[in-house]
Amino acid sequence: MRIAVKIGTSTLTHATGRINIRRVETLCKVLADIKNAGHEVILISSGAIGMGVGKLNLPERPQDMPTKQAMAAVGQCELMYVYDKLFSEYHHVVAQILLTGEDLRDEKRHRNFINTILRLLELGAIPVVNENDTVATEEVAVGDNDTLGALVAVSVKADLLIVLSDIDGLYTADPRTDPDARLIPEVRELTPEILAMGGGRGTSLGTGGMATKLSAAKLCMAEGVDMMIASGARPETLYDVLEGRPVGTRFTAEKGREA
Ligand code: GLU
Repeated sequence: MRIAVKIGTSTLTHATGRINIRRVETLCKVLADIKNAGHEVILISSGAIGMGVGKLNLPERPQDMPTKQAMAAVGQCELMYVYDKLFSEYHHVVAQILLTGEDLRDEKRHRNFINTILRLLELGAIPVVNENDTVATEEVAVGDNDTLGALVAVSVKADLLIVLSDIDGLYTADPRTDPDARLIPEVRELTPEILAMGGGRGTSLGTGGMATKLSAAKLCMAEGVDMMIASGARPETLYDVLEGRPVGTRFTAEKGREA
């Protein structure tokens, strides 16, 4: 299988912005193992800005563009250093791909990106994709990595996009505040009721929330790519996903459905 895994800032880092070492180590180990089992793995990783904030000891995530872009420049470097170090332990090679919305909208650049990523997969590397935050202004940015993950997954015709998050799936209400909230195991159609469950923003260090995950699901489903939302707290969950155990929420695209 060709699997795209999107991991968010709040899963990669502690609330301080510093890297969650245990979690990232486990994530890399599990992904390396999944790759050893014969799957192709593409990682869409956030965390550049968050890690820059942690590394430069800023009290909170900045709001102004130059500081955000400066944080991304520092943090992206740290992020790739960590992935390179951890995946190397399992003899895997990482490759950094930084994109903006323009790279995906422009036909030639989009084609170049697809050719490169497919070649990397053929060569056995693990592409690690993020938005090119140091140059992406609001007008050209994809804006959030849930959407970026979906655009990447669709571009390379992944079999599955797994969005690892600080929430383990789509709930009927916000489980942090509503004790009656129920996890929805499968979504086959993005009805207005489902879309209304999107709610608002996520944590202070990340960008997304459920709304961006649902729009990512919409992009994937429209192109016949399945998407899952699962908890990033235990990266071993990826084994459950691949072995078909019931975890998280699966957005099943029409193409992938059994008759
Ligand atoms: N590209 C941003 C970063 O690496 C994250 C965007 C997102 O989390 O949606 O910090």
